[in-house]
Amino acid sequence: MSQLNPIAAPYTTAPIDWNAIRADFPLIAGHDLIYFDNAASSQKPKVFLEAMENMVKNSYANVHRGVHRLSQQATDQYEAARKTVAKFINAADEAEVVFTGGTTDSINTLAYSFGEAHIQPGDEILLSGMEHHANIVPWQLMAERKGAHIKVIPVLENGSLDLEALDALMGPKTKLLSLVWVSNSLGTVNPIPYLIQKAHAYGIPVMVDAAQAAPHMPIDVQAIDCDFLAFSAHKMCGPTGLGVLYGKRHLFEPLPPYRGGGDMIDRVRFEKTTFQGLPFRFEAGTPHILGAVAFASVLAYLSNIGMRQIEARERQLSSSFRQQLQQNFPEVNAIGTAADSVSVVSFLVKGHHPMDVGVLLDNQNIAVRTGHHCCQPLMDRFGIPGTVRASLAFYNTEEEIERFFVALRKTIQLLR
Ligand code: PMP
Repeated sequence: MSQLNPIAAPYTTAPIDWNAIRADFPLIAGHDLIYFDNAASSQKPKVFLEAMENMVKNSYANVHRGVHRLSQQATDQYEAARKTVAKFINAADEAEVVFTGGTTDSINTLAYSFGEAHIQPGDEILLSGMEHHANIVPWQLMAERKGAHIKVIPVLENGSLDLEALDALMGPKTKLLSLVWVSNSLGTVNPIPYLIQKAHAYGIPVMVDAAQAAPHMPIDVQAIDCDFLAFSAHKMCGPTGLGVLYGKRHLFEPLPPYRGGGDMIDRVRFEKTTFQGLPFRFEAGTPHILGAVAFASVLAYLSNIGMRQIEARERQLSSSFRQQLQQNFPEVNAIGTAADSVSVVSFLVKGHHPMDVGVLLDNQNIAVRTGHHCCQPLMDRFGIPGTVRASLAFYNTEEEIERFFVALRKTIQLLR
């Protein structure tokens, strides 16, 4: 495997030993903990630690600015990481991949820069009712600054989008559709290729929040034809504080910068500063060098398992979880029952606050998330304070699901 382009490793077609893969994760392998909080952040494999250690021991320095050997080696590795990400999402050009601090940072960057370039008073940004706050608040801040309005695609009772409402919501004033691919609260997989086609028919560019899609399925930005796409490394077995903002070059490059300083400049004078093109235009200051390099190794690791295989396993685990929950627990209400979903199962134990359920599960060594999951408008839509959310990853097992249900049964008895 080439060190500079680790993703060049061939995709495997052999049957996968998921137990061996689980053994790659030091915090869960051989431990009693059942970790079902993967949508919040996923666990880290040994390759992540090894890549960090390797760079710290052999080739760490600041990037881009140094003539010395170490700085050049670090720069080569950092830029190779960008290529690895570009390949992972099938970007046409690695310059279209900007490293950010995470999905939230990516969307703030786009909302500011796109807003400055394109938004006039009275314009509209179209979102959906199942967005994470990270895909609502940056647009609201921009809309308030620019006198624009937010429109919202409604969510149906089963947790899918009301596609029939689309035509009435799109028009000449709609300047962007920004939409989550996989809901972090419900697990719903939105029909992103269809929605992009539909928006493009109105001449509306589309930004995809892929924070919960990139960890669970192959992403091909050219095939879906999205204009912008964001995701976080820490939800895909990589580091915190690192994310990606992808954008089609002809739309992304002309946008004004969001932050100033460091590598984003071309020439600084007190009278006027000129800026770099992509990708440096949007990478002010010293980037997360170690994180990006380690993330490239993690992407190689995931690609080696195969994102299709990961998707198939996670769909199977989460649908088995969902089925058993619905069949065997009449005391439970499933929230979000859309036909297409992955990884996330959200529910309520009737008559009980999700927090109480979460604490009792934690007492039995099970990590789930409870609350509004940063989707307060979605919780309001269902008239609930929050949910209990189990979110599964490929390193989880059917046996853990069985143990979860024993613990849930006990939790319901204790609550009575
Ligand atoms: N969008 C979605 C769908 C998410 O699930 C999350 C994280 N929960 C975010 C955005 C924000 O990601 P981050 O906190 O990594 O910036």
